[in-house]
Amino acid sequence: MKKADIVICGGAVIGSAIAWFLDELGFDGSVIVIERDPSFARSSTALSASCIRQQFSQALNVQISQFGVGFIKGAPERWGADLNLQEQGYLNLANTQTGAETLRENHAVQLDCGAETLLLSDAEIAQKWPHLIVDDLALGAFGPRNEGWFDSMGLLDGFRQNAGVTRMVDELTGLMMSKGRISSVKLASGAEVSCGVFVNAAGPNAAVIAEMAGVDLPVEPRKRTNFLFDCAEPPPADIPLMIDPSGVWARPEGKHFLTGCCPDIDGPADPNDFDPNHTEFDDIIWPALAARSKNFEAIKLQRFWAGHYAYNTLDQNAVTGQHPEIQNFIFANGFSGHGLQQAPAVGLAIAELITHGEYQTLDLAPLGFERILSQTPFLEKCII
Ligand SMILES: Cc1cc2nc3c(=O)[nH]c(=O)nc-3n(C[C@H](O)[C@H](O)[C@H](O)COP(=O)(O)OP(=O)(O)OC[C@H]3O[C@@H](n4cnc5c(N)ncnc54)[C@H](O)[C@@H]3O)c2cc1C
Repeated sequence: MKKADIVICGGAVIGSAIAWFLDELGFDGSVIVIERDPSFARSSTALSASCIRQQFSQALNVQISQFGVGFIKGAPERWGADLNLQEQGYLNLANTQTGAETLRENHAVQLDCGAETLLLSDAEIAQKWPHLIVDDLALGAFGPRNEGWFDSMGLLDGFRQNAGVTRMVDELTGLMMSKGRISSVKLASGAEVSCGVFVNAAGPNAAVIAEMAGVDLPVEPRKRTNFLFDCAEPPPADIPLMIDPSGVWARPEGKHFLTGCCPDIDGPADPNDFDPNHTEFDDIIWPALAARSKNFEAIKLQRFWAGHYAYNTLDQNAVTGQHPEIQNFIFANGFSGHGLQQAPAVGLAIAELITHGEYQTLDLAPLGFERILSQTPFLEKCII
């Protein structure tokens, strides 16, 4: 049987970030990352919209992303690779007084954390972005700095190339328990690896892995489709990512535009179903975009793909840290739609927990599994 001090299941952005930071912190032990598909073709990491924002309602989520954007900006110096951050900001739009009040409350939290979010009236929005129809708008919130989109696979490459860890291409099929701890993991190849600490970084498959240890983790795959389109008369390419009050979002992607929405009927998806949901574009996205800008009236689909959120059904936020009873079981799961930007901070935090026995840079205790047991949501109002 192979042995490792740390076994990480899942080698995409979260698993690789943890491994990379263990190496950075000088963790004095062996680390094995088990990944069933090193092409990552079906990972959320590869299929994501690759955006990062400061516009959250929970201070902890703002701070996690602030760490993330600093880390992304530091990539050229650290890795000699530019992650091509397009710092064009997010423009969150509200068309009701309740929506405007939520933007104001979130704005106060963000300013407290040092974010530079601006609140804008409909007239100010129209002045800055004349392509938008603003008649129905009550308020907008715009982040001119530290928000935008970047190269997700570049971030994954950085975390993978620099970690002094052993990587195994295999599928984890079982967790063996002894004396209330995870003693080893079983793999599809028939191999078994004994472990000191086990980290679940299996993305949308996280609940299946947790179940192997008898743990009920409320994380399920939920399908999200991204659509790339062209405009007959495009708006300027330097516009921000817009989140329409309908929930439809759109942003420039080179000379194209990328868009998506939350489906009308949302629920657990078959983890092997990657068929794009075309009706979302026709029924939800295009009508909302066309109503928001004349430039989005004549548009042509170019590409589309579907991926899965690892959707935390309790509160759509990450679940991180130790299981309170199975103490060598560590979660890094349930990131829903914002795990890519959280990978640097969560990678560091979990590596600190393993190396030093505590969180040191950012206290992720509010994201712990205890809240799942007590059914106390860590509510984030700004979920996409
Ligand atoms: C359409 C879409 C858009 C998104 N947009 C954004 C965004 O704009 N910004 C943002 O921050 N986040 C976004 N996200 C979320 C983000 O992509 C994820 O939260 C993040 O990539 C999660 O990374 P992960 O490593 O946990 O999971 P994944 O990238 O899914 O990786 C999990 C890995 O575990 C492996 N694995 C699973 N089970 C096993 C097993 N039994 N044995 C071995 N290996 C296993 C898988 O093969 C996979 O490689 C989006 C997600 C989707 C689907």
